Amino acid sequence: MRNSNHHITIRQHHSLREHNTFGLDVVARQFIDYHSVEGLVEVLSALRGRGEPMLHIGGGSNLLFTGDFEGSVLHSNIKFVDYVSRDSREIVVRVGAGVVWDDFCAEMARNNYYGSENLSHIPGEVGASAIQNIGAYGVEINSIIQQVETIEVSTGKPRVFGVAECEYAYRDSIFKNRLQGQYIVTAVVYRLSTVPVVHLDYGPLQQLRPCEPVPTAQEIRNAVIAIRQSKLPEPAELGSAGSFFKNPVVQVAVFRQLAADCDDVPHYVINEDTVKIPAAWLIDQCGWKGKSHGGAAVYDKQPLILVNRDHATPADIMELAMLIKQSVQEKFNITLEPEVNYI
Ligand SMILES: Cc1cc2nc3c(=O)[nH]c(=O)nc-3n(C[C@H](O)[C@H](O)[C@H](O)COP(=O)(O)OP(=O)(O)OC[C@H]3O[C@@H](n4cnc5c(N)ncnc54)[C@H](O)[C@@H]3O)c2cc1C
Repeated sequence: MRNSNHHITIRQHHSLREHNTFGLDVVARQFIDYHSVEGLVEVLSALRGRGEPMLHIGGGSNLLFTGDFEGSVLHSNIKFVDYVSRDSREIVVRVGAGVVWDDFCAEMARNNYYGSENLSHIPGEVGASAIQNIGAYGVEINSIIQQVETIEVSTGKPRVFGVAECEYAYRDSIFKNRLQGQYIVTAVVYRLSTVPVVHLDYGPLQQLRPCEPVPTAQEIRNAVIAIRQSKLPEPAELGSAGSFFKNPVVQVAVFRQLAADCDDVPHYVINEDTVKIPAAWLIDQCGWKGKSHGGAAVYDKQPLILVNRDHATPADIMELAMLIKQSVQEKFNITLEPEVNYI
């Protein structure tokens, strides 16, 4: 990498405090920022065969570092927004993986293109949006993804995944399962609507529904940001990784038993066999809201979020998560699974 023409920045023993929204003070043995696909290919070729751990991160907003990282952490600075095509109904936009997701949302809303506005203000970068299948307020990103451009880690070869190949599901994709760690996203191609297509079924967004004319993408974005700011901690002020656990999906029989024991169990019917139950409700019922453990705590406005209240260590957060998981298991016989990626 030394004689590279490609812009690559390498730092040794680099603090990751600014690279994870929990704000955990852990260190990467090596931190590599690259600015182009060619730069990434060169980095991968230099690292290949060394047998060292490698991790690609975005904004670090869904990561829980369990300690220092004894390997190379890679980060993309590939930043561009290319307008590929436009017709009377749709626009196709190709976006570099290193673009901040909400910067892209802001640009789409400014132009009144519909599709990303409900996902406004989600922290992180474009590359991870396609790994995580981010979702909020009734929309998942797979509804606007057309293609995901990647580089295969083992060969350095490009591969483009059509949306169907990404096997998207609730906060899940092929990149988190079968192909975990095997491909690095370099760009995502999104398809947005130039005519209003709105999703306003979620609670507070319903107040925009009777609007005539239909609300602009910018108006919906503004409403989403206002809701999020009233409910969620801002990473710059209070460290967190958003929802710590996934909402569990249980068999109808399990739900019926729960509903017989407790009044008003919030739920969302997925199909005739399964029901989704908000993890926040389960955690709240176990009395965790606002409770702390070492420097970590359960956010007092939303018990699904664990926060770094006071110089938390990775162990504080992991222990708190384990205690919560145990108590939900004991009280409801439901197993919570983390949404956050443990590293
Ligand atoms: C306050 C707060 C609120 C949040 N709200 C939401 C929400 O409403 N909805 C939601 O879905 N999520 C939410 N999240 C979680 C988080 O913002 C998303 O998961 C986001 O997509 C993570 O992006 P990132 O760039 O920070 O990725 P990281 O956390 O850095 O990485 C996430 C995963 O993607 C992988 N990865 C990152 N970049 C690449 C790449 N270029 N190629 C291959 N793999 C890559 C990493 O290895 C890791 O496995 C929230 C988080 C916070 C802190």
